[in-house]
Order: sequence, then structure tokens, then C-alpha cells
Amino acid sequence: MAERLAVVALGGNAIAGRGLSLDLNSQWTSVASAARGIVSMLEEGWSVVVTHGNGPQVGYLAEAMEALPPDSPRQPLYLATAMTQGWIGYMLMQAIEGEMVRRGLEGGVSVIVTRVLVDGSDPEFRSPSKPIGKIYSEEEALALSKSKGWIFRRDPRGGYRRVVPSPRPISVLETRRVKALLESNRVVVAVGGGGVPVVEEGGVLVPVEAVVDKDLASSVLAIEAGADVFAILTDVPGVALDFGGPDERWLDEVLVEDLKRYLDEGHFPPGSMGPKVEAAVLFVERACRPAAIGSLEDAELVVSMKRGTRVLPGKC
Ligand code: ADP
Ligand code: MG
Repeated sequence: MAERLAVVALGGNAIAGRGLSLDLNSQWTSVASAARGIVSMLEEGWSVVVTHGNGPQVGYLAEAMEALPPDSPRQPLYLATAMTQGWIGYMLMQAIEGEMVRRGLEGGVSVIVTRVLVDGSDPEFRSPSKPIGKIYSEEEALALSKSKGWIFRRDPRGGYRRVVPSPRPISVLETRRVKALLESNRVVVAVGGGGVPVVEEGGVLVPVEAVVDKDLASSVLAIEAGADVFAILTDVPGVALDFGGPDERWLDEVLVEDLKRYLDEGHFPPGSMGPKVEAAVLFVERACRPAAIGSLEDAELVVSMKRGTRVLPGKC
């Protein structure tokens, strides 16, 4: 494994397109464009661990289960996450291998079902914050919280959304297997949807009804795997201060301590850019190596630190 290793996190929206369209053709189109970016990285000499979000897909599964007849069993959220690891992992494998063949590149793609260790006493279990699935009316939300014990929060767009715990990832349990797979593959897909969350109880791993932020979990994997660079690819060209405002300013190169200060000052919203910045800061501080946040369209340029917001280590 002489090649440089990049851990690359793809946004759920970068794969499914914003607006929850899971039309089969659009899925293949989005995955094909992600595959072109990944394979361009291989041409630049990188080995790549691809991680990915699953927001649109897990929302789709939740709605599909709700539409089942009342006497059909419903599967828990952690199984929905595991399902999306197969779903999206398969599509990425298919598309990336296809693109490799087209460009005459050797080496395969492996997909690994991934668990992430979380702490059972994480405050998120007492006060969940992560909205998932669709928006419900007040009556529907009341009925569902009675029948299923779901917790709802008012959505800024009106109506109510289910919220689930989003505990911090402590460790990615498959890191060593990912490293082993990299001996014989140039691409490994892992940590889908942030990984299936588990807690340790008396030496046994037990799944929990929660979701882990995919950017943070990917950062933990990048640290544990000894990645040379950690890249987060999404649908904007990087990180901006005063995003969408009159003083909008896109960051190109930024020292980790400066970015951390902007984060602490509340420049980045919790549900979108916040976790990406936090994940990049975590990697750069722990690994003392650079991270980048940028557009999926510029994939290989972002990984090579030529485009996007590049987060640089200070004194290590
Ligand atoms: P992903 O599916 O890739 O995780 P998110 O929606 O979670 O995507 O995060 C990316 C989005 O963050 C962008 O589409 C952009 O609208 C939003 N965003 C919020 N604040 C910022 C910011 N300060 N700079 C850039 N983008 C931002
Ligand atoms: Mg996101």
C-alpha cells in the first residue's frame, strides 16, 4: 500500500440529488458522476476509502415501512441504516468498477458493512436532535408518538418531524478490516450513513436506535486509518463565512485554529455545514494532516488540495 490514502465523504444529497428524488435513473446518474470523481483520484495515484450519507434513502425506507399494512412488522432505524449501506454501497461499487474498466484501471472495489461505537450515556439519548423522515401534521405526530413512542420537534418549515439521537462516534469498529481490504482493493466503501451505531454492554455490542453523523464518523475513520488527507464532498464549492448573506466570503486556505474559531463563533449551521467543519477540524487536529471541503464536481482537485476550502494544520 505505497499509495497515498484519501478518505472521502460523499453527501447523501450528492448521491441522490437534493429534493429526495430516488427515481432510479437519477440515482444511477448521480452515482456515475461520483464514480468519475473517485476514479480520477485513482488516476492521480490515490487509494480511496469512500464514505457516504444516506438521508434521502433512510427517509424513503421509513416512509415505505409506514405504508405497509398495520400487521406487518416495522424494522428499526439501525436496520434501515444497514440496508442503505448495501443499497448505496452496491451502486457505488457498480459505478466505480464500471468507470475503472472504461479507463483501463486495474483493482477492485469492496464494500464493507460498518458499525460505529457510541457512548450509551451520550446526552443525545436523553435529548435527541437529529430530524429524520418527512414532515407530519400535529395530529399525525401526536398519534405516532402515542403508538410508537417517537419524539417530534416542530420544523422551521412548519409541521413536525421525528427526531432521533445523534450520539458522537467514538470509534469505527471496522477500521482494521478496511485497512486489510486496501491491500487488495484500490477503493473501499465504508461507514455508510455514518455507520450502524452500537454500544458496548458487558463486553457485547448492542445496536441502538440512533444515527451517527456521517461527516464525524468519516473523520474518525480517517484518523484511525492513518489517512493522508480527509475530503468532504458536497454540493457547494467549499465553506463560506456569512453564507448567502451580503458579506459572503468563501474560504480557500484556512488554518485549523482559525476555522475552529469561526465554528465556535457559530458561523456554520448544525444540520449541514457545522458537522463538516467540525469533522475537518477533528481530523486536522488529531492527524496533523490537511482536510478539504468542496464540491463533488471538483473531486480530484479537492483531494489534491487545489480546490475547495483547505484546512491546514498549525503547530502539531
Ligand atoms: P450533504 O448531504 O453533502 O451532507 P448538507 O446539506 O448536509 O449536505 O450540507 C451542505 C449544505 O450546507 C450546502 O448545500 C449549503 O447550502 C449549506 N451551508 C450552510 N452553511 C454553509 C456555509 N457556511 N458555507 C457553505 N455551505 C453552507
Ligand atoms: Mg449533511
